[in-house]
Amino acid sequence: MFFWLPLLALAGLGAAAPLTVRLISVGSLPPAILGFLQEGVTRELGAVVRMGGNLPLPASCPEGRSQYPGPPFLAALAAVRPPGEEIILGVTGVDLTAPGLNFVFGLADPPSRCAVISLARLYPEFYGQPRDPRRFKARAVKEAVHELGHLLGLGHCPDPACVMSFSNSLADTDQKGPGFCGACREKLGK
Ligand SMILES: [Zn+2]
Ligand SMILES: [Zn+2]
Repeated sequence: MFFWLPLLALAGLGAAAPLTVRLISVGSLPPAILGFLQEGVTRELGAVVRMGGNLPLPASCPEGRSQYPGPPFLAALAAVRPPGEEIILGVTGVDLTAPGLNFVFGLADPPSRCAVISLARLYPEFYGQPRDPRRFKARAVKEAVHELGHLLGLGHCPDPACVMSFSNSLADTDQKGPGFCGACREKLGK
């Protein structure tokens, strides 16, 4: 959701090697969550998606707080990213913030090829609504594909149905699709 640093040039994308995405959980998460994200990201991005293990919650998070600053998550992911073209998606169950924002659904840092998404606010239960695992999973896949789109050089898209459209709220997230519009696809070289 929060687009943080300048875009990378698109030069070289779509070339020979298939895109590889590594999923890393940060803090404890039910294993099934990474499984459906792996499926969703593979389907929407045509990427090779590998399970990349688990990192502890960053030590720099303030004790006794219910929200964690997001940038240390990106730094922790960048520190374990192997050299090469692989891009990293961290997935955490804790609620994230970023400077100047009350919360973020996700953060992407194209220069380090790392992004993180927070699942905390994607559960209907967070808003006192009944459980809805299907809706939760759809939201999580959209957030994942959106942040990975930023890592691949895409900015926000004016097409409200495109996964790269900016979501002001979860209603926007629920309305958009999990895939890229034609213009974004073209930029990705697909
Ligand atoms: Zn965004
Ligand atoms: Zn688009």
